[in-house]
Amino acid sequence: MTTIAFIGLGNMGAGMAANLAKAGHDVLAFDLSPAALDRARGAGCRIAASAAEAVGEAETVITMLPAGAHVRQVWTESVIPAARQGALLIDCSTIDVDSARAVSAAAVAADKGLKAADAPVSGGIMAAEAGTLAFMVGCETEQVPAVEAILTPMARAVIHAGAAGAGQAAKICNNMLLGISMIGVCEAFALAEKLGLDPLRFFEIASKSSGQCWSLTSYSPWPGPVPSAPSNRGYEGGFLTSLMSKDLKLAQEAAAKAGATTPLGSEAQALYALFEALGYGQKDFSAVLQLMRGRLADL
Ligand code: NAD
Repeated sequence: MTTIAFIGLGNMGAGMAANLAKAGHDVLAFDLSPAALDRARGAGCRIAASAAEAVGEAETVITMLPAGAHVRQVWTESVIPAARQGALLIDCSTIDVDSARAVSAAAVAADKGLKAADAPVSGGIMAAEAGTLAFMVGCETEQVPAVEAILTPMARAVIHAGAAGAGQAAKICNNMLLGISMIGVCEAFALAEKLGLDPLRFFEIASKSSGQCWSLTSYSPWPGPVPSAPSNRGYEGGFLTSLMSKDLKLAQEAAAKAGATTPLGSEAQALYALFEALGYGQKDFSAVLQLMRGRLADL
């Protein structure tokens, strides 16, 4: 059993902290929201009065916060100053690579033997609750076994991507690819429809042809052929457009800084930002099909 401080008990953090408590860890939870704290108490966590109080008691600290600014603030003001000698600090939020590297470097520079890792996740709220997230980890190789041991009760996979920031780099590259491929699948369905093809027959053909990809055969934006896909339930739940939009923006910021050429990532970002601005941020990202079809009124 490890004493784990868990900061950020929102949509994702709630299920993750609950799974750590279920695995027998002593979880000390903190969030700014009293409702989130009540939920964590109900899931078997102890409640701390502040982030620093939670961190001060813990051997391991996990943060699951909205964005880079929150992580920088919580790590510099609470986590690093309050951490015990030799503590392991893991940030699971999806944030920019620079912030991930900055907080990791600040932890190391604190001269307390702190070990830091970025470990963003793939998988949504249901995977957080079920303990089936995929973690992409950025840390020194010798820290991988300790990080893996902590993340395992929340995971279906823990993959070491490289040094500090590499987890975030892997996450935004993967999600840029996902955003582009989903738009490609939606465009193909919209064109197939205009050309008079039966969309379900088109699905059958493309899924056995060179157009086959995860966005088509595991997550079809056209309702029907993939029963588990959000397209069958009015595009509710799933992976929110607002989160895809956030990840694509992070990818474009990283591309600009690194001098990478990502024209389709840029188009995908613009399209998802537009879809969000039109008021569909809370719909699953595959709902962008209806924008391509000119059928937004159906959403
Ligand atoms: P959320 O907004 O539901 O939860 C964030 C929590 O952090 C909130 O409860 C908020 O009160 C708390 N918080 C904010 N500032 C704080 C502070 N200073 N101290 C303590 N608590 C603070 O967000 P979420 O959906 O749980 O996502 C968390 C992270 O995971 C994000 O970076 C997101 O991009 C990423 N992510 C989300 C999903 C998803 O499907 N929701 C999937 C993959 C990755």
